[in-house]
Amino acid sequence: MNYFSTRAKTRENEKTASQVIIRGLADDGGLYMPENIPQIDGGFIKGLCGLKYYERAAKALSLFLTDYTEQELLSCADMAYNYTFDGYNTKISPLKDGVRMLELWHGPTCAFKDMALQIMPKLLSKALEKTGEQKTALILVATSGDTGKAALEGYKDVKGIKIAVFYPQNGVSRMQKLQMATQEGQNVSVFAIIGNFDDAQSGVKAIFSSESVKKALEEKNTFLSSANSINWGRLAPQIAYYISAYCDLVNEKDITNGEKVNITVPTGNFGNIFAAYIAKLMGLPVNKLICASNSNNILTDFLSTGIYDRNRKFYTTMSPSMDILISSNLERLLYLVAGPEKTAFYMKELSEKGRYEVDKSALDKIKETFCAYFATEDECRKTIKETFDEQNYLCDTHTAVAMSAAEKFKNEHGCAKKNIVVSTASPYKFAPDVLSSLGRSAKNPDDDKDVINALSEYTKTAVPKPISELFGKKIRFDKVLEKTEMQSSVLEL
Ligand SMILES: *Cc1c(COP(=O)(O)O)cnc(C)c1O
Repeated sequence: MNYFSTRAKTRENEKTASQVIIRGLADDGGLYMPENIPQIDGGFIKGLCGLKYYERAAKALSLFLTDYTEQELLSCADMAYNYTFDGYNTKISPLKDGVRMLELWHGPTCAFKDMALQIMPKLLSKALEKTGEQKTALILVATSGDTGKAALEGYKDVKGIKIAVFYPQNGVSRMQKLQMATQEGQNVSVFAIIGNFDDAQSGVKAIFSSESVKKALEEKNTFLSSANSINWGRLAPQIAYYISAYCDLVNEKDITNGEKVNITVPTGNFGNIFAAYIAKLMGLPVNKLICASNSNNILTDFLSTGIYDRNRKFYTTMSPSMDILISSNLERLLYLVAGPEKTAFYMKELSEKGRYEVDKSALDKIKETFCAYFATEDECRKTIKETFDEQNYLCDTHTAVAMSAAEKFKNEHGCAKKNIVVSTASPYKFAPDVLSSLGRSAKNPDDDKDVINALSEYTKTAVPKPISELFGKKIRFDKVLEKTEMQSSVLEL
């Protein structure tokens, strides 16, 4: 299967899956999309039901990454999923009103990004091997917190690859900062940026499109690649866990094979929910996709009105991984509902005016599948407390945004169908906000260790090992950069 840019579908720009994983972004600034969406049916799902997660993931990936052999994908998935996770890859917890909490944070950094970023470096290594690439790949990552750490863990000490991560100085949680600052590995660098996530992301994008940077790196036998969710190698592994979760529900006789489910996703860059959309287009029995946002509710507006307008206030919230005004992967949805020419036009409007409005036909297609809600900070806090008090289930701030959206969906549409609510991070990653939402406080609120212990004691839940182990580690990275210094810092690596 070949891949094309979301902004132009021509034979000249078609690429194989391994080329796409190496390149990340298309030359015209578009994102890569497969030429068609492979189809699955009840028989395929039944076949997966008896398999382990890594085998399911390899089978799902093989439908998209057709220039990899099944054996290669199985070996990548084995390395990614069978050694670094804490007991299981994904876990489903049943709650009331048909909510099925899909926990995706049992990997090495306690966020769902591990699901993709544990396997993507393996896919990239294989791709470099396949294409005979001799140069070093330099991975640049802009992060609002979780991507950075998950990418660092995935790429650390991988041969032929270096990685540099940029995060907004005041836009990530203390725990996320500590996770990144203490990162181990010989090939890693971490920088704080003075600005917000969109500044970090546009800085990285500017480096990618700079001819002078490209030349300078070429002289050092290095080329740039990306680990952000704009890379198809990030997106494809995310499709697998939706299919796998469906299999789990079938196995538990919670649903019958073929029964439709809703899926609620706490959304930032639109990668996770877009993977769910692809799963639906493949034939997974999905009814509605519920897009949950925090106070940065640009997607709530877009998915209901068709107008995307980033000329608005940016809020720093307690769900920082969703503090985004430019959701890059939305471009892939535009491509599917409006085609490449219009997508190129909308993206031009976005970069020139910060705003675009899609045609009615595109909006109608979007609304067939998507609904959108947002949660204020107060609603997020209230959801954490109620979910714990009433159902003895502890969720993090991002998951709470999704729970709040699921509740609003239920009030409007009922709960006849099971609703898979995606849980994207361990509550311990955002312990200060989770603890205060529960109406509790630690003796010393500025000491993260104290906060974590207080949360554990009060909720009688265990602190995940990757978090408890953090406090003994040495700080390796404390550099803070102006936006304008990003380019030169990359050249120094
Ligand atoms: C990245 C992240 C999100 C948002 O996911 P997108 O794919 O960017 O929409 C939500 N929650 C957590 C905890 C995250 O790390």
